[in-house]
Amino acid sequence: MQNSSEAALHEGLLHTVRKLAELGLNKGTSGNASVRYSDGFLVTPSGMSVEQMTAAGMVHMQFDGSYEQAKKPSSEWRFHRDILVNRPELNAVIHTHSMFATTLACLRKDIPPFHYMIAVTGGDTIRCAPYALFGSQALSDNALTALHERKACLLANHGMIALGCDLEDALAVTIEVENLCEQYWRALQIGNPHILSEAEMREVFQQFKGYGKWKG
Ligand code: 13P
Ligand code: ZN
Repeated sequence: MQNSSEAALHEGLLHTVRKLAELGLNKGTSGNASVRYSDGFLVTPSGMSVEQMTAAGMVHMQFDGSYEQAKKPSSEWRFHRDILVNRPELNAVIHTHSMFATTLACLRKDIPPFHYMIAVTGGDTIRCAPYALFGSQALSDNALTALHERKACLLANHGMIALGCDLEDALAVTIEVENLCEQYWRALQIGNPHILSEAEMREVFQQFKGYGKWKG
């Protein structure tokens, strides 16, 4: 039996994946999301489109990888689990195959500080994790390394991951990363974007302290 805050997390996770679909950031069965929950985490089911998902159908997993019988968790449960275990300050994980992040991830390059908003991801680059098979422990290990002290990374030839202190924060980071990737892609079409210096980025981090909704 769920209590009211657990029920709110089920609803919140459904709302988040619906929002990702509505914004065109995930299509079909691509992508997944999770949130810290009770003694483990709640993750979206595997291989289902958002239209088929329900709040009750979200899968409750333990950190040892066990889960409710009769449900099938996202094939990417390993990176959701490993991120939530290793990043206690964060409580929500979103994975997308969104167009611009995925396009740039296919180049297997880090995104440089071509725009000051890169700072919302926690550093002055968005790292691209080396390629590994979807659903594998190797992909999780690569993602965890690329996310060190960051709230987002690209996954080579795959997509991106964004983190947040809650689902709303993770969604805001996801939207911003996709926005940055589109801007970088567009800038690359017409020239060589100027890259901000380390000193300029240090100033940005200083200016962000206490700014608006961005939560470090
Ligand atoms: P799931 O449907 O198993 O969550 O997989 C989608 C995906 O994006 C795999 O990387
Ligand atoms: Zn994926």
